Amino acid sequence: MSASARPFDGAAPSVPRSDRLRDRPALVIGGASGIGAACAARLAEEGAVVVVADLDEDGAAGVAERIAAAGGSALPRRVDVTDPDGVARVVAEAAGLRGGPRIAVNCAGVNGPLSPLADLPPEGFDTVLKVNLYGVFHAMRSQLPAMAGTGGVIVNLASVAAHSGFRHHGAYAAAKQGVLALTRTAAREYAAQGIRVLSVSPGVVDTPMVAALPPGATDGLLATVPLGRTAEPAEVAALVAFLVSDDASYLTGSDHVIDGGYLAK
Ligand code: NAD
Repeated sequence: MSASARPFDGAAPSVPRSDRLRDRPALVIGGASGIGAACAARLAEEGAVVVVADLDEDGAAGVAERIAAAGGSALPRRVDVTDPDGVARVVAEAAGLRGGPRIAVNCAGVNGPLSPLADLPPEGFDTVLKVNLYGVFHAMRSQLPAMAGTGGVIVNLASVAAHSGFRHHGAYAAAKQGVLALTRTAAREYAAQGIRVLSVSPGVVDTPMVAALPPGATDGLLATVPLGRTAEPAEVAALVAFLVSDDASYLTGSDHVIDGGYLAK
């Protein structure tokens, strides 16, 4: 197999999935597309009952339908992570419907305007922070109390941009660094209540967010990735499924880089 060959496409597993998440109520925010959609599908394959929440209501409904067609259990909901009350309502609804969530994956994100820092309009900086950082804050602010009685796991999507910076992605990198800080803080504060809080930092993943980048935005990047390719959303979802399972019971507060070796030194 060449270095750039893909090990699997995530669509047709060669072995049956485990049922290590059987009947666990899960909430995937940003679940209509890309990494979030793959996480929702993977958690459902492993037995979780998934609320798929997203600003894109139709997209969330489509993901939930595909999960149901594959024999899983999912419910779509609309949410805007920039609206704390709306996030609280979805978390309360998930709690009411299923006694959950016991698992939360916070995937909602935007790229925002791409430019060198000095050319970045303040309102563009604001938009990115509102979704990518405040959104995670609003989500955890509702999810942590909802999990306090039962215990649970929260996984936040960060990025290699939090670790290395990323040209023309100043707001994005700043927001993702903030996600790491919120993750570590919550892990320390809520461990005693049985809640684990983790982050995942992907490199470049083949999703609509990356497809929407201007031509040339990722030029030269793959040459710096030892595995020589981008990631599939299903590969990130496989990591997330491990992190939210009891197999990862001693992990909290840590960030999990999945980048094909991009950050290796
Ligand atoms: P995507 O664009 O495919 O999916 C993002 C989802 O977030 C969309 O369904 C969108 O509707 C939703 N969303 C956007 N704003 C929202 C809001 N205000 N409220 C609720 N939902 C909202 O992107 P993706 O590539 O799957 O990214 C998922 C997460 O992973 C993001 O946090 C992103 O920053 C992070 N990430 C992606 C990559 C990559 O290369 N694709 C790399 C590192 C980190």
